[in-house]
Amino acid sequence: MSQSVSILGVTGSIGRSTLKVIEQHPENYSVFAVSAHSRIQELSEICKLYQPKIVVVPSGRVDELQQLLKQADLPEIEILTDEAGLIAISAHAEVDVVMAAIVGAAGLMPTLAAVKAGKRVLLANKEALVMSGDLMLQAAHENQALLLPVDSEHNAIFQCLPQHYLQIERNGEPKLGVKQILLTASGGPFLNHSFEQLQHVTPAQAVKHPNWSMGQKISVDSATLMNKGLELIEACHLFSIQEQFVTVVVHPQSIIHSMVQYVDGSTLAQMGNPDMCTPIAHALAWPERIQTHVPPLDLFVHSQLNFQEPDLERFPALKLARQAMKAGGLAPAILNAANEIAVAAFLSEKIQFLQIAQVVEQTLNAMENSSAESIEKILLTDQVARNIATEYISKLES
Ligand code: NAD
Ligand code: MG
Repeated sequence: MSQSVSILGVTGSIGRSTLKVIEQHPENYSVFAVSAHSRIQELSEICKLYQPKIVVVPSGRVDELQQLLKQADLPEIEILTDEAGLIAISAHAEVDVVMAAIVGAAGLMPTLAAVKAGKRVLLANKEALVMSGDLMLQAAHENQALLLPVDSEHNAIFQCLPQHYLQIERNGEPKLGVKQILLTASGGPFLNHSFEQLQHVTPAQAVKHPNWSMGQKISVDSATLMNKGLELIEACHLFSIQEQFVTVVVHPQSIIHSMVQYVDGSTLAQMGNPDMCTPIAHALAWPERIQTHVPPLDLFVHSQLNFQEPDLERFPALKLARQAMKAGGLAPAILNAANEIAVAAFLSEKIQFLQIAQVVEQTLNAMENSSAESIEKILLTDQVARNIATEYISKLES
């Protein structure tokens, strides 16, 4: 039976890769709804090709989209707007699968809506899980939603864990013979930069990732290693495991996407060419497998795989994220909000690269941590953290 898919953030890097996978399996998947925040022209092209029933855009962009859809002879596509529209296409009764591929906190409520509606949720939007943590997992459990990791590392870990790992009772300790998770990191474009060199790197250099082609925000996060920090938190929640059982391993070739070590001395790795179509296809079809265009790994080409420890002096963001996970409560949401503001400030050349982690640290220090018992409290904290980070940035500028 064909599965009906909503793609949140269809114009992004993950959104586009999702279309690429679906395109190869027209008999199994159809695009029911899509959303975009900008690039409305590109969105209308996607509508022409995939003919979704519903499209969601910010209310300020409706006229433009309407015009373009009319020109394309597609006036029957329904247009919804803003967060309410995103929630509607996430929880829609006709939808089986939701690809959560919005970047940042803006994806939290739509992703949660998909989980509460008991959908198969393909989670790319790691920030949503970093912010909501246990609440998201609990909602998935209560509503029998299938929350499947698309982030390549988490998808790899999921593939290396025993199949029934997610079904068993967990309490933060590794179970079923698992000893620890090895979360791999490429190290980003500045892996071998000195501290001095890091002071002068530009946004253009930061968004040029050596192995992956991704959106701007995650590319900067990869350069600071905050991406690995967010992924550490993501792994702790997804696999209900305490942070001390997750070790970050820098592996510059991005061929091994992560590993699981077992008590008997085994280490299982998931390998493949760095292309997000593989984890997307895996999460779409799980527990089955479907074809993608990704070529099989040629180990004679990739004859060298290297591993090293991350340098927390040059990349303090990873240390901050681990501390935030250890502290628990609202700390991960504060970390995430401050980071989003700092990355945007770096991209618009208001602050320097090394100041990103400083902004995050200052914001964490300025705010009191407490338990994250409701989404309302998390959203409020997110807003306060954004204000504090913005204020700190304006002081840095002056
Ligand atoms: P991107 O910047 O390429 O795309 C983001 C999408 O979200 C776009 O469609 C954009 O229109 C939409 N969007 C942006 N701001 C929005 C807002 N305020 N409200 C609603 N929609 C908004 O980003 P990406 O690289 O595709 O990443 C998407 C998510 O997936 C991120 O959370 C990222 O961390 C995660 N992820 C990405 C990759 C990758 O390879 N690109 C890998 C793993 C995880
Ligand atoms: Mg990743």
